[in-house]
Amino acid sequence: MELKGQNFENCRSCNKAYAANPFLRSKYCPTCEDTYESKYKTVREYLYDHRGSSAVQIAEATGIPVELILDFIADERFTTD
Ligand SMILES: [Zn+2]
Repeated sequence: MELKGQNFENCRSCNKAYAANPFLRSKYCPTCEDTYESKYKTVREYLYDHRGSSAVQIAEATGIPVELILDFIADERFTTD
């Protein structure tokens, strides 16, 4: 397997090294990315119905860790305004 030029990164969630895809600006390995995407969708749907919710309120309602919700916000995937 040719590894030259391959970009490895450590997953921000499980800390496993994975081959980074230059076309995706993901900070997660493919496994965690799936989880991350599904949680992101849950949060987005919650916010759609509950605009203006704080990260803590979203966390309590969805069961998703508040750090992850803050991560979504930091990534500017959405705002809570
Ligand atoms: Zn991972």
